[in-house]
Amino acid sequence: MTEERSAGVDDLRARLQVVAERVDGAARLADRDAADIRTIVVTKFHPASLVRDLASLGVTDVGENRHQEAQAKARDLADLDLRWHFIGQLQSKKARQVRAYATAIHSIDRAALVDALRSDEASVDCFVQVNLTDDPGRGGVAPTELGALVEHVLATPGLELRGLMAVAPLDEPARPAFARVRELSERIVQPIAPAAVDLSMGMSHDLEEAVAEGATHLRIGTAITGNRPFAG
Ligand SMILES: *Cc1c(COP(=O)(O)O)cnc(C)c1O
Repeated sequence: MTEERSAGVDDLRARLQVVAERVDGAARLADRDAADIRTIVVTKFHPASLVRDLASLGVTDVGENRHQEAQAKARDLADLDLRWHFIGQLQSKKARQVRAYATAIHSIDRAALVDALRSDEASVDCFVQVNLTDDPGRGGVAPTELGALVEHVLATPGLELRGLMAVAPLDEPARPAFARVRELSERIVQPIAPAAVDLSMGMSHDLEEAVAEGATHLRIGTAITGNRPFAG
């Protein structure tokens, strides 16, 4: 197996700078304060050493989408003060293990997962993922079932609902898709979940559109890390 060269610290610093400038520019256009927008660096498929380099550059929030990989990195980097965000599809039987290292779980998509995360001792931040496509394989709850799932989260101890998460569909412009997420959020915040105002949306190629529609948490991978070592 050939080892791909990971990005050096200088590359990472330069790309972090570019992304920060993009976020600043998008925030300015939207008349928003960039300080209200958190960038989570998605480090899936990259080695723990890259996460350590990112931390040395001031990164505090990292995102992973596979439990085993995330757990191993969180363990390797336990000496660092990092917030781990779980952003991938999650099997119910792995749920309790994920909550042991994750600060936030962005991919709550069904009642069984909520039940598996229930806890009377600890609390974990979470986002309900909305599926913006007709393909159930893309992850997330259908908009028609969102209200019921949100109510289930709110009724379950140990879960702190922060808001909604979404991935823009591949086959339509991102901005109107993110606008739909904002509208869905408005429909749940006011009547039932006043604290769940956050929006986890926006990736490397569509962060500007997400900021324009109110994103509070961006999940940025390749624009910062460079290409992932393996297909993913
Ligand atoms: C990989 C991933 C990202 C980051 O994607 P990039 O295009 O590399 O920025 C964001 N969100 C989710 C759910 C992901 O799986």
